[in-house]
Amino acid sequence: MRRLLFNALTSVVAGAMLVGLTPIDCGSVLADKTSENDVNAFVERGYDLILDRESDEEGLKYWTDNLLAGEIDAADMITMFVESPEYQSKNATNEDQVKVLYNVMLNREADEEGMAYWVDLLDTGFSHRMIVNGFANSPEFNGLCDEYGIEAGMVNFVEPRDLNMNMTKFVSNCYTSVLERKADASGLNFWITKLMDQELYPEEILTDFIGSEECAAKVATDEGFVDTLYRAFFGHNADPQGQDFWLNYLGEHSRDEVFAQFTLSEEFSNLLNECQMTLRPTPTPTPTPEPTPVPGKMIALTFDDGPYSPVTNRILDLLEQYGGHATFFVVGDRVPTYNSTVLRAESLGCEIANHTYDHKSTLTSMSADSVVWEISNCNQSINNSVGHYPSIMRPVGGAYNSTVAANVGLPMIIWSIDTQDWKYRDATHTANAILNNPGDGNIVLMHDLYSSTADAMEVVIPELARQGYQFVTVSELAAAKGYSMSAGSAYYSFK
Ligand code: ZN
Repeated sequence: MRRLLFNALTSVVAGAMLVGLTPIDCGSVLADKTSENDVNAFVERGYDLILDRESDEEGLKYWTDNLLAGEIDAADMITMFVESPEYQSKNATNEDQVKVLYNVMLNREADEEGMAYWVDLLDTGFSHRMIVNGFANSPEFNGLCDEYGIEAGMVNFVEPRDLNMNMTKFVSNCYTSVLERKADASGLNFWITKLMDQELYPEEILTDFIGSEECAAKVATDEGFVDTLYRAFFGHNADPQGQDFWLNYLGEHSRDEVFAQFTLSEEFSNLLNECQMTLRPTPTPTPTPEPTPVPGKMIALTFDDGPYSPVTNRILDLLEQYGGHATFFVVGDRVPTYNSTVLRAESLGCEIANHTYDHKSTLTSMSADSVVWEISNCNQSINNSVGHYPSIMRPVGGAYNSTVAANVGLPMIIWSIDTQDWKYRDATHTANAILNNPGDGNIVLMHDLYSSTADAMEVVIPELARQGYQFVTVSELAAAKGYSMSAGSAYYSFK
């Protein structure tokens, strides 16, 4: 008989070794003031009340020596007795386990209220350590330990299921409401670890439970599905109105949509708040970044043959909105008629440039004197309007020869992109002519006489701005690209 008892306890001793206890220290602190007989009595009491048997010699010595040495305290010893395979193999009911702990730690029978409270904790899935810890703090246990001259002590929580009461309650409810069974310790620890590590959030654990094979039969019907959602999310059954509502809803919506509605419901949100848990945070949407302007990516939009307020002002509106400049090669004799528009363009930072006084014919068909007349009269019109002379000119039709070059007295600006807007008078054609291949440093030829050209600008200017282009005047473009223009020279682009 003694041999059998000894075998049974070795597992307890081995368990004690595992948690880092060291054997017997002869110069112990407690030995001086504590009677070995009292400690023996406390250990034997543990054998009797927890393991329901007498102590064996070796086990008694082991526990007594460790208590005397201060290596363990009373709460440690009781925890290890309760967690021993010998006790666990008894498969005691939760109620019996609570009774035992009342007896061994509080030295009395459980009252009804206390019994219900602690049994509920065990039923929920917390370990015995929750009870041992609760009792270890009580005056009753401390008084009992004083009688035997040993430290009451306390227990450490080591399993995930004992570390966060709210999470344990939540996962436990997943088991009881969805799977209709009590949680097992390893399952609880598994899911609670996922929650604590934020690998999973509550709604995702519910997804896994409701989607499990174990749950499949219960949710085979829509009624079962709705019932399960109510219990899983809210911890109570569906009321008849709620049940009807969701069954109708399922007529036109998927189960995933219903699940999402429960996830986002106020009732679930309130329950999570009470438990200090949250749904998985939705990431803050990253705003679509504005295209970063590439330094030096510039284009010179130029408009000939105006001004003509109905069109010119629409273009100026867009340039104002997008913070850009353009060049207006004006016809001198038109300037007084549209003076306010010319002044507006000037005030917006646009360039007012020379496109002959009356645009009667190409300069190449004229004498040197006529060329000079055309250019100087236009210069005067511009100066009369904006208060300074222009810096550049564009020959009619882009046509020039050596006589023109020798007599215009200004740099001659031609173009690198010809939209042919005057010919097609089609906004899409004009826009495509630019957008198909805009290119840094290009000079674009247009005419601010046609509403289709203004229409095209409503597409082109926002799009080029989005692509990071700066809209600059011809003089700004030349300067930015490091060109120094000279009178009589022709320029097609500045790259
Ligand atoms: Zn022209």
